[in-house]
Amino acid sequence: KERVRAAEEGIMGGVEGEKPPEADARLLSLAPLNLVVIGHVDAGKSTLMGHLLVKMGAVTTKQIHRYQKESKEIGKGSFAFAWVLDEGEDERARGVTIDVCVKHFATKHKVVTVLDAPGHRDFVPNMLSGAVMADAALLVVDVTRFEAGFERGGQTKEHLQLVRALGIGQLIVAINKLDAVGWSEDRYRSVMDPLHGFIIGPEAGFKSSNVQYLPLSAFEGTNIVDNNCAELKAWWGEGATLVDLIDGLQTKGRGDSTGASGGPFKGCVSDVWRTGDKTSVSMKVDGGTLRNGQKVLILPSNETAIVKGLECRGASVPECRSGDYVDTALLNVEPHFVSVSSVLCDPSSPLPVVTSFTAQLLVFDLDIPIVKGQQVMMYLHTGVDSATIAALEAIVNKQTGERENKRPKALVKGMVAIVRLTVPKPVCLDCKGSGGVGTLSRVILRDRGKTIAAGLVLQPS
Ligand code: GDP
Repeated sequence: KERVRAAEEGIMGGVEGEKPPEADARLLSLAPLNLVVIGHVDAGKSTLMGHLLVKMGAVTTKQIHRYQKESKEIGKGSFAFAWVLDEGEDERARGVTIDVCVKHFATKHKVVTVLDAPGHRDFVPNMLSGAVMADAALLVVDVTRFEAGFERGGQTKEHLQLVRALGIGQLIVAINKLDAVGWSEDRYRSVMDPLHGFIIGPEAGFKSSNVQYLPLSAFEGTNIVDNNCAELKAWWGEGATLVDLIDGLQTKGRGDSTGASGGPFKGCVSDVWRTGDKTSVSMKVDGGTLRNGQKVLILPSNETAIVKGLECRGASVPECRSGDYVDTALLNVEPHFVSVSSVLCDPSSPLPVVTSFTAQLLVFDLDIPIVKGQQVMMYLHTGVDSATIAALEAIVNKQTGERENKRPKALVKGMVAIVRLTVPKPVCLDCKGSGGVGTLSRVILRDRGKTIAAGLVLQPS
């Protein structure tokens, strides 16, 4: 909570504990975009996002100086930019990003929320919560050690498949550390070419037109907001910077200045906290518009509440739209009816509450095939719970999208399959393609510490 607050201070210049400032009209007119940062450990994700946030004025140089001083004290001076995102004590000592940290900055047309995902294997679940919330992905690749992240055991491929399976179609690939290879165009291409083959190939399946590449140096801050590097300019010319590419991402179905924002209100709770007898939540709006004073239905508890006060992008706002993160208090409801993974929606358009549903999943790199009856950990939008694979219904042909091989015996790596899942307690979810941003239909399965499959809910069953 504090972390989100601190992040929002950056952009709005607020002070913790003070009443939120009045909304900035310009910020409110911009379309919200949630960007998850993926890639192998040490690719430079945190350095890049730290530098970006500083350049966009979302973090002050004072904060940076504090981080620099602290990082020197424990002998990790080069991590100063990374520390903008790595705020916990633990993370600093280890020099890795553990939590998904949320930060905001504004470009010409967008308010961007950065979800920084860690690359370490054992921290993968945090990356999942970032990916579930995202509208687009930024992949950071280390040009000096590309193979380490790309071959078996590296996270680059798995992260790409995961975001694609969750329905995230837009991708920016930042080929990083070009300073360390003398800004060589040949080195840039030698990484970009095989990577592009994988990204648009059958395993990841991105559309070529939705993927953009750029060379940069996170450490030197080159080609993030501007490009003053003569060696890069020699072959990149006046090509796009990272911020140009982010600004140009599509935000279809998202609230924007035209007021277009897909269907009735729905959203999922990612945090709950109580002050005195007041219950407050953080939530991502997944569709429609939420207004201050509005009555909402809480599922699966099936209680109603009144929304009191909306705080979005660090300011009090009268309403917020599809794609926004918002903090709000819930009145007239007992606290135990609201929890992380609760869904809030328009009482006249309740979403399904189920204990059994089908999902279309992409199967990841597995040691043991997935079989009927298997117990798994299920990440469904903002919730985590155990689930059972009750039936393997069909395999989907990746080229045609058609169902074939009804009732397969087992699922192995690379398959796309329709699976029926059952859960011990009712969950509220949304179905693929029912409008809005799509977060509420995203599902990821893990078993024995590994992500085994990810995809989208199809329908209650
Ligand atoms: P993450 O694990 O992906 O978040 O990676 P970090 O941001 O923590 O960076 C890992 C290491 O790479 C640190 O030592 C950084 O200083 C270094 N690094 C990051 N970006 C660059 C870059 O553009 N050029 C060079 N030479 N080193 C970089």
